[in-house]
Amino acid sequence: MQSQPLRVLHVTPECAPWVKTGGLGDVSAALPAALRSLGVDVRVLLPAYRPVLAAIKAHRLAARFPADANFPAAELVAAKLPSGVPAWLLDCPALYDREGGPYQDASGADWTDNALRFGLLSRVAASFASRTGRAWRPQLIHCNDWQSGLVPGYLHFAGGQRPATLQCVHNLAFQGLFSEPTLETLGLPASSFTADGLEFFGRVSFLKAGLQYADAIVTVSPRYAIEIQSEPLGFGFQGLLAKRAAELHGIVNGIDDTVWDPARDAFIARRYDASSLDAKLENKLALQARMGLQRDPETMLLGLVARLTEQKGADLVAQLAPRIAASGLQVAVLGTGERSFERALREAAQAAPASVATVIGFDETLAHLVMAGADAFLMPSRFEPCGLNQMYGQRYGTPPIARATGGLCDTITDSSPAAIADGSATGFLFGEPTAEAFWGAVERARATWHDAPAWRALQHAGMAKDFGWSASASKYARLYDRLVAPVTPSS
Ligand code: ADP
Repeated sequence: MQSQPLRVLHVTPECAPWVKTGGLGDVSAALPAALRSLGVDVRVLLPAYRPVLAAIKAHRLAARFPADANFPAAELVAAKLPSGVPAWLLDCPALYDREGGPYQDASGADWTDNALRFGLLSRVAASFASRTGRAWRPQLIHCNDWQSGLVPGYLHFAGGQRPATLQCVHNLAFQGLFSEPTLETLGLPASSFTADGLEFFGRVSFLKAGLQYADAIVTVSPRYAIEIQSEPLGFGFQGLLAKRAAELHGIVNGIDDTVWDPARDAFIARRYDASSLDAKLENKLALQARMGLQRDPETMLLGLVARLTEQKGADLVAQLAPRIAASGLQVAVLGTGERSFERALREAAQAAPASVATVIGFDETLAHLVMAGADAFLMPSRFEPCGLNQMYGQRYGTPPIARATGGLCDTITDSSPAAIADGSATGFLFGEPTAEAFWGAVERARATWHDAPAWRALQHAGMAKDFGWSASASKYARLYDRLVAPVTPSS
């Protein structure tokens, strides 16, 4: 670490507790806080969506940006995250002050002006590089997903001195694709529309700008960094990523263990820790009651909290639901997502209401109760860049039943007979993304659940694991140090 604190700007489209649609929101809150405690001078830049402005208590005007080309006028408002990390909110009512989600309207359709919305976010972040006088100027910009992928792009095309850049990939499936004329709208050169520029199969990709021009690329688990260098998980970027393998790193996400801790969790029916696991049962009964399931301590209860998408294997859960019910198990589902999966899971609950329960919605409180109340947690993801819920599950003594992919491989130790015997097992992994393979893992979990000492060992092993941010934040800090040293102007 340098003697002067390193100045790092995190640019993100979401940050808990102000705005969160998934893991990125959690990471954008917890990683900056962990970096700050390591002495990094980190600040967070995000759009001032309506709920964000409503949530912040105190703020002050920090900068004004006049209307420019196709971008409306905007202001930068300084505030503080609950962790104490300084945040800048990009206030542009025409683009961000509206009902609906950060990326989509209430009907689930992408906002039609997303290119402008996240183009402006990237452009303002890039403009921090040319701040003068006493204004805070980052030595490194940490970009998250496609919504800030244009930061390295703007800096590259502007030329001259620039901060180091890091593109963090939380999910390569979201690529920020727009039509070619978008380049002109955003003030980027038409000449950048080439295969070794921003073109991606006939369209402009914001994410590609980050992958192409950032000094380093980081994925949120080591396994995912390997998987995306080939098909199918490269999603068309595998060639570029393999070419940049030397600058491609995998650093596993941590969890915020102040928010996700069964011993301190204010959202659950009864708090517990590894020495008081019997108290977990009260959470199970509360969850069964809350979800309208038959209250029965003897029935194994599976939980799922997820975006209901194909990526998360929502279809596999819907397929298995009748079998779960017929086999004397229960499943409690909380999620929102694709309408067809929401419908299938609702119908499964209607068909077997004592055994299958579905709540469609985003409910942070209930998510905690599912984690504490379920016996095991389902994560049948087709791919998983990192995943947080499997770590929450282990911390809550709720072993995950998960597909062996990406961050799930990096954070779960499968219950082979040997791993159960030596006390290292923390969950159940299955290979193929099929209902049959998934069911096989559920059966293995059920057999272990009926073996009380083995199950306890599994719970204890998961609860003893350190999923906190400190090791991964140190890895980021070391990488930042390496990246700021040699940055030269882009050619
Ligand atoms: P992803 O970011 O791909 O959606 P992660 O497992 O990394 O998946 O993170 C998901 C986060 O979002 C977790 O904190 C999880 O509890 C939360 N989450 C997802 N869906 C819901 C929901 N319907 N209600 C409450 N929390 C949810």
